[in-house]
Amino acid sequence: MAKIQMTTPLVEMDGDEMTRILWKMIKDELICPYVDLKTEYYDLGLEHRNETDDKVTMDSALATQKYGVAVKCATITPNAARMTEYNLKEMWKSPNGTIRATLDGTVFRAPIIVKGIEPCVRNWEKPITLARHAYGDVYKNTEIKVPGAGKAELVFTAEDGTEIRELIHTFKDGGILQGIHNTDKSIASFAKACFNYALDTKQDLWFATKDTISKKYDHNFKDIFQDIYDAEYKEKFEAAGIEYFYTLIDDAVARVMKAKGGFIWACKNYDGDVMSDMVSSAFGSLAMMTSVLVSPTGVYEYEAAHGTVQRHYYKHLEGEETSTNSVATIFAWTGALRKRGELDGISELMEFADKLEKATVETIESGRMTKDLALITSLKDVTICNSQDFIKEIRKTYETL
Ligand code: NAP
Ligand code: MG
Repeated sequence: MAKIQMTTPLVEMDGDEMTRILWKMIKDELICPYVDLKTEYYDLGLEHRNETDDKVTMDSALATQKYGVAVKCATITPNAARMTEYNLKEMWKSPNGTIRATLDGTVFRAPIIVKGIEPCVRNWEKPITLARHAYGDVYKNTEIKVPGAGKAELVFTAEDGTEIRELIHTFKDGGILQGIHNTDKSIASFAKACFNYALDTKQDLWFATKDTISKKYDHNFKDIFQDIYDAEYKEKFEAAGIEYFYTLIDDAVARVMKAKGGFIWACKNYDGDVMSDMVSSAFGSLAMMTSVLVSPTGVYEYEAAHGTVQRHYYKHLEGEETSTNSVATIFAWTGALRKRGELDGISELMEFADKLEKATVETIESGRMTKDLALITSLKDVTICNSQDFIKEIRKTYETL
C-alpha cells in the first residue's frame, strides 16, 4: 500500500525520559509505516534545550505559529535536582509555559473513553472536556501579610494621574490581603478559543464564575463571553446545533455531576486547576487524557496530559521491563495528523487518525493493556503488555481494521 502523503509539515517537538522512548516507538511502529511523515523536528529534550540556551523552545513555538499544528512529547520542567542531574547552565523555564505564552493559548483536556475503564461517576457516558484559562487571577497575585491595625485600599492610577480608590478593609488587628488582576484581552482570547473549539468538536460549551458575589471581576468574564458570543458566534452555534450557556460555578459543579458528558466546561484559572484534576482522576487515569493548546488565531499544539514518567525511565535505563501507557501520546499524534489533514484537505490523513485511534481503543477493549490500566479495569482475562508489546498489539489490531 502506498503511504499517505502530506503537504505541510507538522511541527514535531521531541521530549524527555520515558515519553521520549515511547515517541520513537510510536513513530516507527504506528505512523511511519503508513504515512510519509513530514515534520519540522525540534528536539526539546532537556540536554538540547540546555545546549541552545532554550532557544529551541522558542523556535518550536514560532514554527507552530507559522505552520499551525504541532505535536509535543512530554518534557522535563527543571528543578534543583535536574540542575545537577543534567548539569544545566540555568533552571530553564517550563517549555509548556513558554509555548503557551507565545501562542496565547487555552488548554483543552479530554479523557479517552474505553469500555472496561469506567469513570467513577456512573452517569458520565461521554468525555467532559475541560478548558482552563491560563492567565492571571491568583496565579499572578500580590499579597501582604497585614501586621496590625490600619487601612487597606485598592488604588488604580491612570496614566494621566487620575485615581480610582476603594476601601478594602479597616483592620483592627493583623490579617491578610491579596491583589489579583486579569485583562480584557486575555479573557477575550480565552473566550474565542473556547467558542472555536466548541464549533470544531461540535460540543456544547458551559462557562461559570461567581458573578453574584464578584460583581465586577467575575461579572467582567461573564460579559466578555456573552458579548463575543452574541457578536461573532451565536449564528454559527445555532447552525451547528450546539449551545453556549453561562451559569454560576456552584450550579455548574452540581450539573456536571449529574450530566452524561459530551460538553466543554470552560473554567477560570483556579477553577480549571482544581476541576481538571477532579475530572481527570474521576475518568480513571492521566495516561488516558489528551491535551491540546488552541490559540485565538486557530493554532493547535497536541500533547499528552501526563509527564515524562521518570520512575519508569530509570527502570528502563537499568534494563528492567516497563509497562508504560502510550495511549495519550498516540492520541496527541492522531489529533495533530487529523487537524493537519483537515487544514490541508487530505481526507486519507483524517481517516488514518480515526483508524489508529480505533485500533488503540479496540486493543484495550480486547483485554491487551498496560499495567496502569490492568489495575483499574473491570474486564476479565487481561493480558498485561510491556511498553513495546502494547504498541505492537495496536499495530496488529490496526492491520485487521
Ligand atoms: P508523570 O510523568 O506524570 O508520572 C507520575 C506517575 O504517574 C508515574 O510515576 C506513573 O505512576 C504514573 N503515570 C504517568 N503517566 C503514565 C503513563 N503514561 N503510563 C503509566 N503510568 C503513568 O509525573 P512525574 O513523574 O511527577 O514527572 C516527571 C517529569 O515530567 C517532571 O520532570 C515534570 O516536570 C514533567 N512533566 C511534564 C509535563 C509536560 O510536559 N506536559 C507534564 C507534567 C510533568 P507509577 O510510577 O505508579 O507507575
Ligand atoms: Mg494542578
